[in-house]
Amino acid sequence: NYMAENIRTKTETLNDANQALTVARDAALAASVAKSQFLANMSHEIRTPLNAILGMGELLGETPLTPEQEKYVRVSRSAGENLLNLINDILDLSKIELGHPTLNKSEFDLFIAVEETCQIILLQAQQKGIALHWHIKPETPSRLVGDPVRLQQVLINLLANAVKFTEAGEVTLEVSQRSQPEADFVELLFVVRDTGIGIPQDKLGPIFERFTQVDASDTRKYGGTGLGLAIAKRLVELMEGRIWVESMLGVGSTFYFTVIVGQGNETTEAAHLSCT
Ligand code: ADP
Repeated sequence: NYMAENIRTKTETLNDANQALTVARDAALAASVAKSQFLANMSHEIRTPLNAILGMGELLGETPLTPEQEKYVRVSRSAGENLLNLINDILDLSKIELGHPTLNKSEFDLFIAVEETCQIILLQAQQKGIALHWHIKPETPSRLVGDPVRLQQVLINLLANAVKFTEAGEVTLEVSQRSQPEADFVELLFVVRDTGIGIPQDKLGPIFERFTQVDASDTRKYGGTGLGLAIAKRLVELMEGRIWVESMLGVGSTFYFTVIVGQGNETTEAAHLSCT
């Protein structure tokens, strides 16, 4: 009897604990949904007037202005654009963190995805007089199943940083396959190398945490939000990969990341592809 009573009490305690856990989980879920909703509303509320300000600035820029007025319009427009980027980044990260993002998987062409991304960055690199080379190693399959948009987002963040933090020299992207050809998945390795300013050793770890910037002084030369790498890390993890960095001050940085994707149906083997 005593045993039966003991078991009954324990079962009740366990049930209570389970119930409390369910209530806590529901509350946490509701809070996270409320937070996402709040951020979505805020974004709309901030973006609408901000777009109006930017639009008016653009119109003002087209009217005859004195050189001094032109400068004021330019400065206010660039501040507005920075603010818009910041809001978009914060929202992006909140969506990734709170919204349990899922990948939008489809069959895609790795070569096209890489080329498109490089073309976007090429313009920025050319404007700074920096060379951008990209290379897909032979035997890397091209037809894959995954989320090309998320993959491109990670690549753009890393390549844009590489160009931003490089004064002279070159940025290279190398793509290769890490998995065995007979495996039923494909593990890709992306390597983004630059000859830029480099990152001090003690900042290499925290660099992937949000709002971490090596140069936090008010006179920051490079702008940015400190969110790009945090977003990249979350996305890479979502794609079952890892991201890491090696760097030497004054010499340059190399960012590495892996992702796991599926084999596409058309298993045409990649030709050796590169572009400068
Ligand atoms: P942002 O570039 O907007 O500041 P990120 O999260 O993309 O934010 O990067 C965080 C910080 O990491 C940057 O501010 C910079 O200090 C450092 N960093 C990132 N990429 C590089 C790079 N390729 N070379 C040197 N420093 C870098």
